[in-house]
Amino acid sequence: MSDIYRSSAHNHTVFCDGKSTAEEMVLKALELGFVSLGFSGHGYSPYDPTGMPRKDEIAYREEVKRLQQVYGDRLEILLGVEHDSLMPYDTFAYDFMIESVHNLYKNRYVYSVDWDQPHLEEAIHVHGGDVYDYCKVYFEACAETYLASPAQIAGHLDLVCKFNEKTPLFDELDPRYLDPAFQALDCALEKNMVIEVNTGAMARGYKSIPYPAPAILKRVKEKGGQVMVNSDCHDANNLIFGYDTARELLLSCGFTSAVILRKHGFEEVGL
Ligand SMILES: [Zn+2]
Ligand SMILES: [Zn+2]
Repeated sequence: MSDIYRSSAHNHTVFCDGKSTAEEMVLKALELGFVSLGFSGHGYSPYDPTGMPRKDEIAYREEVKRLQQVYGDRLEILLGVEHDSLMPYDTFAYDFMIESVHNLYKNRYVYSVDWDQPHLEEAIHVHGGDVYDYCKVYFEACAETYLASPAQIAGHLDLVCKFNEKTPLFDELDPRYLDPAFQALDCALEKNMVIEVNTGAMARGYKSIPYPAPAILKRVKEKGGQVMVNSDCHDANNLIFGYDTARELLLSCGFTSAVILRKHGFEEVGL
């Protein structure tokens, strides 16, 4: 079995919007024979209830460090954060950072990209009503964010398509969509960010395939970029949810390897 099944770096706990405690995640990871487990609590953002307020972030850091002490001889446990693009960068030191665009700022308001379909439709309306223009704004925010970000991982790059499988509003192969997506991707690759293959929306029933779409993954391969499979897990039972699909998709896009996050950095493993 591929070593991609023995790691996930993108995981949430009860300290933000997850259902499981950090320790429950660790115990599940041990049961699955993981070599490494990364925690990536949502960084603080006043407009987003999933972000950890400062006191919760401190408690989160302390708990992950405690788990490193208790379980560190059996599992590499990494303390990370999922940064929201609209926020300044944290002053805390983290082992790794995932960069994600979850929200767009327009006319003095913040609009969530992925909250639910009604919020999405409102955001499209506020951005002028053309869905391709809206997607372009999203990908331009990604591009700008990646260029400025110290993060090592580009999280769910095409998050804007979260509801598009169940309620299609745009064609993900239309150049009006794909060209800005490629530009965002190219910025991430220029910064040597690892492109995350994220199965989180599969676990929650929104999508049948991971982010990002096959056309984007094929471009990652063409450009020599690196990918990693993460579950964006909010429930310990879903720690490797969708990994079979992610692996098959990567193979079909020409990949023979991916990376996993270890204590010493990214490690390339065969698919
Ligand atoms: Zn996210
Ligand atoms: Zn996440």
